[in-house]
Amino acid sequence: MKEKIYTIPVHDAYNQATACPLCTLEKTLTDELVAYYLGPALMEPDVRVVTNDRGFCRDHWRGLYDSEANRLGLGLLLHTHVGDITDDLHKSLGKAIPVPQKGLFSGKQKDYKDKILEVAEAIEQRVQSCAICDRLDQTMGHYLDVIFYEYFHEPEFRRQFDAGHGYCLPHLALLLRGAARFLGQNQAAEFITNLTTQQHQSLSALRDDVEWFTLKFDYRNAKADWKNSKDALPRAIRQLNGRTDLKNQ
Ligand SMILES: [Zn+2]
Ligand SMILES: [Zn+2]
Repeated sequence: MKEKIYTIPVHDAYNQATACPLCTLEKTLTDELVAYYLGPALMEPDVRVVTNDRGFCRDHWRGLYDSEANRLGLGLLLHTHVGDITDDLHKSLGKAIPVPQKGLFSGKQKDYKDKILEVAEAIEQRVQSCAICDRLDQTMGHYLDVIFYEYFHEPEFRRQFDAGHGYCLPHLALLLRGAARFLGQNQAAEFITNLTTQQHQSLSALRDDVEWFTLKFDYRNAKADWKNSKDALPRAIRQLNGRTDLKNQ
């Protein structure tokens, strides 16, 4: 039996029988983390050290903003993080400035482009670094551990898993990474065979639904039933990219 704090959310997500249970887990966890970083934790010095340093990625700054909770807290987070970035950039941008050449042949600095690119890379890393993504990666890792453990020890969970409707592509890749990490060769063979079956069924059905969506534009099909295709476009986009916030959905 794995730790309950990880098994309960996994069971809840699989009980909902959504298209991608890992998206459900990720969404619940993201909402919890947004609430956490805008809650009392944001005044704790050790949490502030992390948020000042790591900041948040584009999606999660948006999540913090869009939650419309605790505007003062978000302001405090941004104030100290922007302060950290200001100091950091003041130092690092200076390193990107090449020494001006004195004459045509003197003072040529061979590695000036490398230095500029190094600074660009450091900035890109700061843009992508994210306190919420760090926690998501860590916790999703624990969830994967539970999924693989239960798949081979809990017949009921396995039945539920095998009856699933496939995964979005990012989470399909995550499951394959998990299989490589947690499973022996024979277990991986079994698991991936079953995963392949449900993924293929789910993608084939999705392809048919998207096709029927387009065929409904043919006047001869105008009165025909939508079948399962009314929401085929957002479902297809989500299956390709994982949880995507689409307007009016
Ligand atoms: Zn997913
Ligand atoms: Zn993030």
